[in-house]
Amino acid sequence: MRPPEELRSDFPALSQAAHGHPLAYLDNAATTQKPRAVLDAVRSFYEKDYANVHRGLYDLSVRATEAFESSRRRVADFLEAASPEEIIFTRGTTEAINLLASSAGRSLLQHGDGVLLTEMEHHANLVPWQMLRSLGIRLHFLPVDDEQGTIDWNRVEEIAKKHRIRLLAFTHVSNSLGKVNPAAEICARARSLGLLSLVDAAQSAGHQHLSVREIGCDFLAFSGHKMCAPTGIGVLYGRQELLDLLPPYQTGGEMIAEVRLDQSSWKSPPHRFEAGTPNIGGAIGLRAAIDYLQTVGLDAVEKHTASLASYAASGLASIPGIRILGPRNHRAGIVSFVLDKVHAHDLVAFLDQEGLALRAGDHCNQPLLRKFGLAATARASFYLYNLREEVDRLIEAVEKTRRYFAG
Ligand code: PMP
Repeated sequence: MRPPEELRSDFPALSQAAHGHPLAYLDNAATTQKPRAVLDAVRSFYEKDYANVHRGLYDLSVRATEAFESSRRRVADFLEAASPEEIIFTRGTTEAINLLASSAGRSLLQHGDGVLLTEMEHHANLVPWQMLRSLGIRLHFLPVDDEQGTIDWNRVEEIAKKHRIRLLAFTHVSNSLGKVNPAAEICARARSLGLLSLVDAAQSAGHQHLSVREIGCDFLAFSGHKMCAPTGIGVLYGRQELLDLLPPYQTGGEMIAEVRLDQSSWKSPPHRFEAGTPNIGGAIGLRAAIDYLQTVGLDAVEKHTASLASYAASGLASIPGIRILGPRNHRAGIVSFVLDKVHAHDLVAFLDQEGLALRAGDHCNQPLLRKFGLAATARASFYLYNLREEVDRLIEAVEKTRRYFAG
């Protein structure tokens, strides 16, 4: 990988100051900054190739359609999907999971079936499934046993048999704990029990090598904005034979084969699930982001962010009164922590004064934090452009805040 010091210069937003300090952007689990290659690709598309897609017979629209569909092929290639038809463009992970839950609730899942989730799911992989309760679909949960994020995946079999589980949906990387779940092993287990599987890859896409072929999942969702692409573009991957069975999520233009006043028929996937004008510029940006990340090298990105996180976790651990969540070994680039007697929001406001941008809150993981007796944590999350010296600044600033509150 090119050194992070050098990669930083690809990201215009990172050269700014914050409260008189160089900005240390440590909120990458929320969203990532954009490299010039992505900004340029989107700008060039709007300047030269922009028109609506799938409609026009004129050159510009044909070019826009080709650019949009080539982004779909690029995503298919990135995920090692069997074909571009398995790639549905959505607004992000949230919309991808809502699409799947809504459509599966009317087809693949029957009254009395169960959906198995874990206690560490982001609200985006929990609430859409709760909405299916009115259809007689029940939710079950794999417990998270400790603050390290340990889950006993052996329990899947017993729960699946007892509760007529049809689908297992889990996060690949926990956005609050930095725990990495062994996705390929879990999906193999699901398959052997006849369960469908959904992987929430919001925190892993663009942060490590990600292959639906190797993972062996039925569905996978991710957001472009957490991997250098613009906001408002994301993906639901689904195995072709399953997508064929799903009814549309939204309806309107572009997704229909034939419309009569009293009834309509649908196109085949993926267009069946893309009603209305899509985020064409977002898809172009996503393709540029994939190109950028693959040039940097995803294995190196994974190694770099994991090494910053373990460096941060061990440095922070030396501060009196600190409590660090998440695994001791094999942590993704995320470190959540709380400081005794200092509210996470106050802590993060102090860090902001030092030019450090971190998130504080429940990270859309309320049930998990509640289980740990917490309402909020501070969270540092790293990406390819973060530096060890930014981690040093973080540790020093947390210690300074502690001393301030200790009086
Ligand atoms: N799942 C996980 C694990 C996440 O971290 C996030 C974003 N914080 C989401 C789902 C939702 O992603 P988005 O807001 O981009 O739809």
